[in-house]
Amino acid sequence: MNNYRNFIGGKWIESTSAKTVNNINPANTAEVIGTNRQATREEARAAVEAASEAFHEWRRTPAPARGKIVARAARLMEAAKEELATILTLEEGKTISESRGELQRSINVAEFCAGESRRMNGETIFSELPSNFVYTIKQPLGVVACVTPWNFPVAIPTWKIAPALVAGNTVVFKPATLTPATAVRIVEIFEEAGIPAGVLNLVLGSGSDAGDEIINHAAVKAVSFTGSNPVGIRLYEQVSRRGAKCQCEMGGKNPVVILEDCDMDLAVENTAQGAFGSSGQRCTATSRAVVVAKIADEFVERISTRAQSMRIGDGMDPQTEMGPSVDEGQFKTVLEYLNIGREDGATLVCGGERATGNGLDKGYFVRPTVFDHVTPDMRIAREEIFGPVLSVMRVKDFDEAMQVANDTEFGLSSSIFTNDAARIFRFVDEIETGMTHVNSPTTGGEAHIPFGGIKGTGIGDREQGSTALDFYTELKVVYVDYTGRKREGNLY
Ligand code: NAP
Ligand code: MG
Repeated sequence: MNNYRNFIGGKWIESTSAKTVNNINPANTAEVIGTNRQATREEARAAVEAASEAFHEWRRTPAPARGKIVARAARLMEAAKEELATILTLEEGKTISESRGELQRSINVAEFCAGESRRMNGETIFSELPSNFVYTIKQPLGVVACVTPWNFPVAIPTWKIAPALVAGNTVVFKPATLTPATAVRIVEIFEEAGIPAGVLNLVLGSGSDAGDEIINHAAVKAVSFTGSNPVGIRLYEQVSRRGAKCQCEMGGKNPVVILEDCDMDLAVENTAQGAFGSSGQRCTATSRAVVVAKIADEFVERISTRAQSMRIGDGMDPQTEMGPSVDEGQFKTVLEYLNIGREDGATLVCGGERATGNGLDKGYFVRPTVFDHVTPDMRIAREEIFGPVLSVMRVKDFDEAMQVANDTEFGLSSSIFTNDAARIFRFVDEIETGMTHVNSPTTGGEAHIPFGGIKGTGIGDREQGSTALDFYTELKVVYVDYTGRKREGNLY
C-alpha cells in the first residue's frame, strides 16, 4: 500500500503526526489505495520557510529557464498520462476517459505556461516629457500557496502551480485531503523535471490545520484557492486582512436555457453530459435546465430516458459513463438533497436514490436524477449539490428564462440551446456568468483560454489563458529620464 509523504525543501518527509487518513476507492470502498499521516502545523510552517528560502535564487533564474522546467514537466506528464489517469480514477472515481481528458488538459496547461515564460513582457510607454520614457516589468510575489479541491486533482493544481512557477514564485501546494495520490505524482514529476529544492513544496494535511497555518503565514504573499464557498469566503477574509493577494474560484449553480426552436437532440445529450458527467462533481456542471413551457414535456421525457440509460459503474470499466460520488460525505449530501427536493414539492421524474445491484452496493453510486417543476425558491434550485441531479425549471418565454437563469448567487458557467441569433446574443450579453456556451454543454474549457466565474463564484483574476500570470505577478512601473538635466516645473 502506498504511504504518501510531504515534500519540503526538496526532501520527501514522513509526517510525525499521529493522525492518519486512508485513501479509499469510491467505486469500491473496501479498497484502500494508500494512507498518509496528516501534516502538522509545524510541518506546514517548515514548507513555507523552505519556499521562502528558495525564493531569492528562483526569482533570479531567467523566466525562460523556469519555463524549460515546466515544459519538461509537461513532457513527463505526457509520458505518465495513462498511469496518472488510472490513479485519478481509482482515488476520485471519475471514468477513465474523463481522467484521460483531465490529464490532457493538464499537459496542455503546462505547455501553455512554459510558452508564456518567453512572453512575460511589459509595456514601453511614451512620456509627456522629451527624452523620457516609461516601461513596466512583471515581477514575482514571493511564496504562493495553492489550495485545491478533489474534483480536478490534476488539472487544477497544474493550472495554479505552472503559472506560479513560471512567474518566479515559490509554491506551497496544499491539495484536498481526499486526493493525495495524484498530488504526490504531480510533485514527483516536477521534481524529476528539475525543480530546485524548496521551489515547490507539498503539504498533505487537513484544511483546518495545515491549510489554516499556511494561508495565515506572514511569508505567504498570495493564496490561490479553488473549492467551496464557505471555505473560500472565510479564507479570503483571513488572507486579505493582512494585505496579501487572494484569488478564490468557488461553487456554481449553472443554468442551461432551452428555447422552443432548439435542436432537441443536441440539447438533451449536452444537458445530460453536463448534468451527469463526472457524477455532477464539476464546478461547471449543469444543475438547472430552464426550459420554455411549450417544449418542456418533450424535454423532460427525453432527458429522463437518457438519465436512466447512463451506464453507472466503476470508472476503470471503459463502458462506464458515470462513476460514484467521491466519498461518504459527498454521497450523503447528495442523498440528502434528493429528500429536500421531494419535501420542497418538486416532481421526481427519475433516479432519486442510491444505485444498487451489479456490484454498485460496494461504492457511493447515486442514480442520475431529474426533478421537474422546480421553482426558484426551492433549495435544489439555489444550492450547489455536486451530484448527478438536474432541476428542470419551466418558464413561459425567453424573458422569464433570463430572469430565472440569473436568479442565483453563483456566476460560473451557463449555456443556451437555440438557433435564433438575436436571442443568442442577448443571452450572451445578459447572462451573469464568467463563461457561457452556445449550443454546447456548460462544462469544458481550454488551456489557453481564461477560466473563472463572477458574482458569488469568483474573486480575483481569471486563471489560465492570457490572464494566467496576472495573479502571480506584480506590475512595476519604471520612469526613465535621459535628459541628464534638472526637471523644470512640476509633474503632478
Ligand atoms: P473545499 O471543502 O472548500 O476544500 C477545498 C480545499 O480547501 C481543500 O484542499 C481543503 O482541504 C482546503 N481547506 C478547507 N478548509 C480550509 C481552511 N480553513 N484553510 C485552508 N484551506 C482549507 O472544497 P472541495 O469539497 O474540496 O471541492 C468542491 C468544491 O470546489 C465545490 O464547491 C466546487 O464547485 C468547487 N470548485 C470550483 C471550481 C471553480 O473553478 N470555480 C473548480 C472546481 C471545484 P481538505 O480537503 O483537507 O478539507
Ligand atoms: Mg472537502
